[in-house]
Amino acid sequence: MISTYVSADLRQRVRRRAKHRREYCLLAEQDAFFTHEPDHIIAEKHGGATTAENLALSCFDCNRFKGSDIASLDPTTGSLVRLFNPRVDGWGDHFQIEGGKICGLTAVGRATERLLKLNLPARVEIRATLTRAGRAALCPRSRNTDAFSSRRAPSRRSYPPSGHCHLFWRWTCSKPAS
Ligand SMILES: [Zn+2]
Repeated sequence: MISTYVSADLRQRVRRRAKHRREYCLLAEQDAFFTHEPDHIIAEKHGGATTAENLALSCFDCNRFKGSDIASLDPTTGSLVRLFNPRVDGWGDHFQIEGGKICGLTAVGRATERLLKLNLPARVEIRATLTRAGRAALCPRSRNTDAFSSRRAPSRRSYPPSGHCHLFWRWTCSKPAS
């Protein structure tokens, strides 16, 4: 949730860092109806600062469903867990995409997936449609989201490996070899 003014420079920095892709649901800005917006990962009411380190590029839906929450319950165990933090966590460490659905792999991933309603039917259908159109979402390849894998950047030869297009969702969501 944003309440403090975020300068144009800071907004641009957040957008560039995220490669214009939503950091929770991975939808690209060019595929979105609404403009992406910076989200306070730790909401201001919990003491979160309006700094690049505490902002994530978010879509309208993720931002509204997340609100000022910073934790939720793991639907599998019922344990209270923090939410996914794009500045600290690797997306592929907590989620994978199967058939347009974003599946939580960890307690953090499961709680975030449910709270942000990442798998509402309309959202799944959009992902599936983009996949069929060859515009599938790509998973960040490492932490801090400064390095996203890109289907349009074959120069990144080390990741993902070549020749795995039939497993596109899976290999883009795999944790890269360190
Ligand atoms: Zn989103």
